[in-house]
Amino acid sequence: MAKANMQKTKTPMTELDPAYRATCFEEVAGGYTLEEAVNEAQRCIHCKNHPCVDGCPVGVPIPSFLKELGEGNVGAAYAIVKDANALPAICGRVCPQESQCEGKCTRGRNGEPVGIGRLERFVADWALANPEEAAAAQQAYAEQTGADVAADDFDYTGKKVAIVGSGPAGLTCAGELAKRGVQVRVFEALHEVGGVLVYGIPEFRLPKALVKQEVSAIEGMGVEFEPNAVVGKLYDVEELMGEMGYDAVFVGTGAGLPSYLGIEGEALNGVCVANELLTRVNLMKGYLFPEYDTPVYAGKHCVVVGGGNVAMDAARTAKRLGADVTIVYRRGRDEMPARAEEIHHAEEEGIHFQLLTNPVRAFGNDEGWITGLECVRMELGEPDASGRRRPVAVEGSEFTIDIDMLVISVGSRTNPLIAQTTPGLESTKWNTLVTDEETGATSVPGVFAGGDVSTGAATVILAMGAGKRAAAGILGYLRK
Ligand code: FAD
Ligand code: SF4
Repeated sequence: MAKANMQKTKTPMTELDPAYRATCFEEVAGGYTLEEAVNEAQRCIHCKNHPCVDGCPVGVPIPSFLKELGEGNVGAAYAIVKDANALPAICGRVCPQESQCEGKCTRGRNGEPVGIGRLERFVADWALANPEEAAAAQQAYAEQTGADVAADDFDYTGKKVAIVGSGPAGLTCAGELAKRGVQVRVFEALHEVGGVLVYGIPEFRLPKALVKQEVSAIEGMGVEFEPNAVVGKLYDVEELMGEMGYDAVFVGTGAGLPSYLGIEGEALNGVCVANELLTRVNLMKGYLFPEYDTPVYAGKHCVVVGGGNVAMDAARTAKRLGADVTIVYRRGRDEMPARAEEIHHAEEEGIHFQLLTNPVRAFGNDEGWITGLECVRMELGEPDASGRRRPVAVEGSEFTIDIDMLVISVGSRTNPLIAQTTPGLESTKWNTLVTDEETGATSVPGVFAGGDVSTGAATVILAMGAGKRAAAGILGYLRK
């Protein structure tokens, strides 16, 4: 094994200049060269109990992949990652590694952790650029480890499973089932496949061509996709399992229903929720205007309300559409739920922050367009149920920001459609589906669920982990 590289910090990765990237939708982070990747992989000291693996919701055998990469065996490293993670090019870009694998890495106790996410991205990008070599490496790995062989010898030929929703939970579940010979069809409400990966996360963080390639790989495994199919309207779950002949159904419909502020003026023109702005730009290719005829209005002076990753994405998108953007958030910087890297990127790109500030009223002109937002200053009081200090309004501190666009990004909820149209399907008061944590089984036999639809808005990798567990649960159900 190559000698460990004891460099305390991660091997730097190139990024586009902030002033330039704030004007376009090109991907911000540049990725590693082979030399940089090998150098970074060699920072792994292969510690005995490898805590990084416990931090990975899909259980990528991280030290094994880093060992191969550290020795320059990119194909072998890729095959190890891909066997555990169906969407490595995506996870390498968007996973919050700082609170998962990298958050547990031993090297992080005295310096920076190994850049596991960057390395996952590197091997995945290599595979997309070298598909034949990647396939050969996967084949060799499968022969060596029996990795592709089903854990049971049951013949699933002729078994049919319907997947509802094509986000990371549905895609992962589909891939896992197809590997075992199950016939899988994915029903997706929108015209594009990929869930939040295509309609939510912006191009500059996750290029859509990449998502397409990962989806094609799943299609290559025999999975069929039916876009423009809203289950609960076009078909319901009972029909899928009845006349349509599916043996089981996996529900991975996410949590795409937006929350609003509940303040006066929210119905004015020039007010929208973050998902609406992001979907217009992503799915209608607004980021390619004028090449695609989809101008998206983001105003000249735009306020984005919220402090999470979605707020950062919306703010950075509005900036790229030409607006001067301010984020208004009711707590302080330390309490912002967005990843530190996203906040940093937003600051670098010239987004302004009004922290400890809460909107109380939007007002507009005679034509019904928003012209201003009245806000109040906040201070932090005692911790609330979430453990974070509760923001309390400072009396008499009201002030106004002149704006022509307001983007609301204060969370999203689960759509109740599937629960409402599936008799006996148990859900919580937040509309999330009640599932068995191990198998994803719901209260209706043969119906499984996972991802944001059961946890509420969470992360890509948690949705993938749920999709993987549910696939195992479905296989167990089919065997019975
Ligand atoms: P989704 O990705 O939401 O997919 C659900 C799919 O089901 C959608 O395509 C939807 O159209 C479809 N659907 C819904 N109802 C029906 C129906 N009735 N019939 C058929 N289809 C239906 N997570 C990270 O880890 N890192 C990030 O950087 C990150 N950034 C984010 C940025 C944004 C803007 C957003 C909104 C979320 C972000 N997340 C991020 C969260 C992450 O994307 C989600 O947790 C994850 O996509 C959930 O996966 P899912 O498969 O459960 O659902
Ligand atoms: Fe390597 Fe860090 Fe995992 Fe240890 S915890 S095996 S150093 S990546």
